Amino acid sequence: MQGGTESSRLSRLSASAPLDSLDEAPEANRRPRRARTALSFEMIPPRHDADEAKLTELIEGLAAYNPDYLAVTSSRRSGWLEGTAKFIERLSTTTNFPTIAHLACTAGTEEELSEWIRRLIDSGVRGFLALRGDLPEGEDHLPEGYLQYATQLLVLIREIEEENAYRLAAGKLALSVACYPSGHAESATPDLDLDVLLSKQRLGADFAITQLFFDAEDFLRFAQETRMAGVRIPIIPGIMPMTSLKRVERMGVLSGIEVPAHVRDAFEACSDAEEEYEVGMQMSTDIVQTLLDAGVGGLHIYTHNNLAVTADLLSRCGIEPK
Ligand code: FAD
Repeated sequence: MQGGTESSRLSRLSASAPLDSLDEAPEANRRPRRARTALSFEMIPPRHDADEAKLTELIEGLAAYNPDYLAVTSSRRSGWLEGTAKFIERLSTTTNFPTIAHLACTAGTEEELSEWIRRLIDSGVRGFLALRGDLPEGEDHLPEGYLQYATQLLVLIREIEEENAYRLAAGKLALSVACYPSGHAESATPDLDLDVLLSKQRLGADFAITQLFFDAEDFLRFAQETRMAGVRIPIIPGIMPMTSLKRVERMGVLSGIEVPAHVRDAFEACSDAEEEYEVGMQMSTDIVQTLLDAGVGGLHIYTHNNLAVTADLLSRCGIEPK
């Protein structure tokens, strides 16, 4: 799918600079070579009228891959954290996998978020993805009483973690944050994105998950730039299976990323939905294969609660249920 120059640049990057070697830490401090690539699934709290049998099939189907953790999104559609908490409770009682709750500043005031963090810890959550959330249409900040940036939420979660230190035994909460290989729509420059990620690391983020991206090179370039800027936490690529142009365009709008011409052209050359699916999944497979060849430590799959598509993509990449 990539042009000649890009491909050869990428193979040079992959061959001469696997991601581990981008660490500038002295040899002895480097992490040992990873035994296996981490795998995590992002899930959406189901609607009230969700088909129970399908939901059970989804959870069991994803669990069969023995994921390292399951992350549950939070949005207005599912009553913000109400839906997230309920789904996490279900996952915790039906699987043995650690769960991570997405928590966005947009979900409530600082006081409300504090209560939610405590409630989620009470219900067994030991990890969060700390987010700002998208600003309401036409607004350039959140209302008074709301935290304005993900960095402030990180600080709040670490404070509540300290309150609960005795209950968490020796453990800490695992804190993840978002980052953007293709830039965040509101950031004036890529440097601001790097500075923000460095702040997140400084304020206690343990790892970062990326927004979707359409070219493996965007991720690899970003990974290299973040390492050179001093980011040492793991950066995990967020993978969106591309199943149709309509879906890709929708996801592009939601995440503020333009669909590149080569992706659009590939879809537009298709004659029906079946061909679009095949072409899209091949592009997604190529991205994952390139990342695996470059030595990424983990894959985070945006499942959109679609087991068939997730399983198909993983199978094309040689990853089968355990
Ligand atoms: P921030 O890191 O706060 O950044 C927001 C903007 O402000 C950026 O442009 C940044 O450069 C700038 N900025 C940050 N700090 C400062 C500062 N101190 N001074 C000046 N500028 C600053 N959204 C949901 O609502 N629910 C979800 O479940 C959800 N899941 C997601 C999962 C992943 C893996 C990702 C990548 C995104 C997810 N999102 C979700 C979307 C996310 O909320 C949006 O991308 C949002 O627009 C930005 O969130 P953030 O945490 O990156 O914000």
